[in-house]
Amino acid sequence: MALAEHRHKQVTDVNYNLSFVIPEQKDTPIAATLVLDLNISNLDTPLFLDFKEDSNHLKTLLVNGKSEEIIHKNEHLVIPINKLSMGNNQIEINFVMGELSLNRNDEYLYTLLVPDRARTLFPCFDQPNIKAKYKLSVTAPKFWQVLCGAPVQKITENVETVAYEFGQTEKISTYLFSFVAGKFKKASDSPEGFKMDLLFRENDSTKIRLSTPTIFDSHHQSVKFLENYTGYGFPFQKLDFATIPGFQYGGMEHVGAIQYREGSLFLDESATENQRLRRAKLIAHETAHMWFGDLVTMDWFDDVWMKEVFANFMAEKIVNPAFPNINHDLAFMVAHYPRAYGEDRTLGTNPIRQPLDNLNNAGSLYGSIIYNKAPIMMRQLEAVMGKKAFQKGIQNYIKKYAYSNAVWNDLVALLDAETEIDLKTWSEIWVNRSSRPIFKEQIMYASDSTITSFEFVQNAEDGSNGLWPQTFEIALYYADTVVTLKTNIKGKTALIPEAKGLSKPDAIVYNSNGMGYGVFPLNTSFLIKIPRLKDQVTRGYSYINTYENVLNGRITPLDAFQLYKESLVSEENELLVNLVSGYLNSIFWKYLTENQRAQYQQPLEKQLLGQLKSNLPANIKKILFRRFRSVAYSESGKDILYSIWNHTMKIPNLKLNQDDYISIAMDLALYQHENQKSILEKTKDDISNPDKLQRFEFLLPALSNDILVRDNYFESLNEEKNRAKENWTLTALNYLNHPLRQKESIKYLKPSLEILDEIQKTGDIFFPKGWLNNTVGNYNSSEAYSILKAFIEANPDLNPALLKKLLQASDDLRRAQLLNQKVDKGSN
Ligand SMILES: [Zn+2]
Repeated sequence: MALAEHRHKQVTDVNYNLSFVIPEQKDTPIAATLVLDLNISNLDTPLFLDFKEDSNHLKTLLVNGKSEEIIHKNEHLVIPINKLSMGNNQIEINFVMGELSLNRNDEYLYTLLVPDRARTLFPCFDQPNIKAKYKLSVTAPKFWQVLCGAPVQKITENVETVAYEFGQTEKISTYLFSFVAGKFKKASDSPEGFKMDLLFRENDSTKIRLSTPTIFDSHHQSVKFLENYTGYGFPFQKLDFATIPGFQYGGMEHVGAIQYREGSLFLDESATENQRLRRAKLIAHETAHMWFGDLVTMDWFDDVWMKEVFANFMAEKIVNPAFPNINHDLAFMVAHYPRAYGEDRTLGTNPIRQPLDNLNNAGSLYGSIIYNKAPIMMRQLEAVMGKKAFQKGIQNYIKKYAYSNAVWNDLVALLDAETEIDLKTWSEIWVNRSSRPIFKEQIMYASDSTITSFEFVQNAEDGSNGLWPQTFEIALYYADTVVTLKTNIKGKTALIPEAKGLSKPDAIVYNSNGMGYGVFPLNTSFLIKIPRLKDQVTRGYSYINTYENVLNGRITPLDAFQLYKESLVSEENELLVNLVSGYLNSIFWKYLTENQRAQYQQPLEKQLLGQLKSNLPANIKKILFRRFRSVAYSESGKDILYSIWNHTMKIPNLKLNQDDYISIAMDLALYQHENQKSILEKTKDDISNPDKLQRFEFLLPALSNDILVRDNYFESLNEEKNRAKENWTLTALNYLNHPLRQKESIKYLKPSLEILDEIQKTGDIFFPKGWLNNTVGNYNSSEAYSILKAFIEANPDLNPALLKKLLQASDDLRRAQLLNQKVDKGSN
């Protein structure tokens, strides 16, 4: 940190000129040359370049034209003071590129350098506030495409290779520098003269035909919206994108060359409206980053949440007009609340803004708190400030810090100028503190049952003195009418004077407009009324609040299970069907006891099959089928799944594509269908896409009936190279640790925790949490809980950031113990 601060003052006007040759074979090292021009404004200390690789990767060094000795220690290439001069300097380095973040495959490679991985690739000043210009020359095998952040200037075809010369980028942070090279197909479009290129490997002609126009159009619409909203024109020379099979995240906002997970962008006619909405939001999110993150960048990674909250917040605004049939308040709620609560309710929760001493831990900042709680906070802020004032503050912020860096307080100062509210106090609780409020009601009635006093109280779930100022609505339900009360709680309690004199309602729904944040009062007797609530947002929030009350022990898992099971029949809105389907799954696998699961599997399977055979729209069918697949492990369920897979049973209006058939085959293998072997062989023969075939083969051992094969496979994940495809590894772990397999797989639990530190060091930013979610996150037994507790006790020195991730991922396991104790006591 001290070095980063010093260096920020020491160097300016940084230009990286990189040239290298990519060999055909992925095991052949990549030799490269870096010519680095920079301005030095003080020589109190030597110059430290970050390079996190073996010293033997560094071959020669020229400083201002003179050959110098290479001094490489503690991940730094050190240039002594006496070799440098004040003002302009040029450093030339011949080196071999580091491979950790090169993602090399047989036919393609791509860099992914966020948050601090540029240093693993080439010597650089790897911190977001030393922005620099980049210029690339890349020679690649013939027929390869190359994409980076600047436009192509010249392409030279040779006998066996092709050489690309690129122009210079604008000033950007190291984590936003990227390139993609390989055998890709290319599509281009220029709506209103705005040219965009797309590189992709998908070979399904239907998906390509149906998706390509939408992909271009979504980017173009996003650009237009953002130019208008921010009052700042598109800030870079170009906007191109590449889709990559099995990409680590949904997308990554590299300047001028966004990378996406291929499967997230290429959809066919079987996709539900929600899947299309998610794709549009993903594109809007990455495009919004061109302004929020790429143009104006956080000074340091403790403010990384700022770029993510704006990307998500803008994405919501951008997609609204393109999906006029969607209830966007509901879409916002189902997208953000369950996930935000999923981390904020745990013992491992964190504030939106977290201090970061060591850049090694930067990856641990990412999670649902910044992607989901922060947009909820922003929407509250916009509501209390007013939309116009909020937008004006944002426009000033973009203009003032363009091509530069800013911290949260810089933005607070600009927003503060547009509002009466004391934003510093407001941001202290919402941004700098974690947890959420638990609300309790205090209602007094007169003898004639009219309300004499309506008051509610908030208490921080984590036991602190935190109080969240916020605004939301409360709905009072009567036989033939609904009375809605607005509240604006500023301190510990809020009194609602308008309620005085009203008669006693049949039911009270807190947070009926879905704006509030916390756990609200709910009685078991109210559950049967939820499916009949008219307003979709009110109903949706009631489903969410029910789940939170299950986890807090106020509603039993079985009561909630019955509610969600019945709502799956009554709901017609795709977003709500999806919401209750997800909760049904969580309750079924994580909170029902084994006996309850045995008892309720058949009724649930029967209900779902009945619904699948009935006359429902395709989008609903797709969600119901997914739920059916996840519980069809009985003999009857397997038979049906098998006849759907081999096309002997036709489900009306259910659209399945090849990916779905692959998933069904894998489920049948997991459930040990008697024809497992032939099912998997046939599936494999049918896969024509080489990337999908590779994935399928990677996952097969995780599905084996032979426990030795699974054991060996799990052990192979100890080696970094075997988990290089992180996304596939997580799917494999999920199969290995599936609840149906846990008697055999529980022995993986301890080793999967013990390797955690290593997982963080070698994996990308979302990998440690994903690793935990698909290992310890799949268990609910007391035996698993003992293993978890023993691990935490035995490792008091575990990196605190990782401990938090562990406490987040194991929260269901912990709560299942608490709830099961209740069930046991109740039955005695
Ligand atoms: Zn993002």
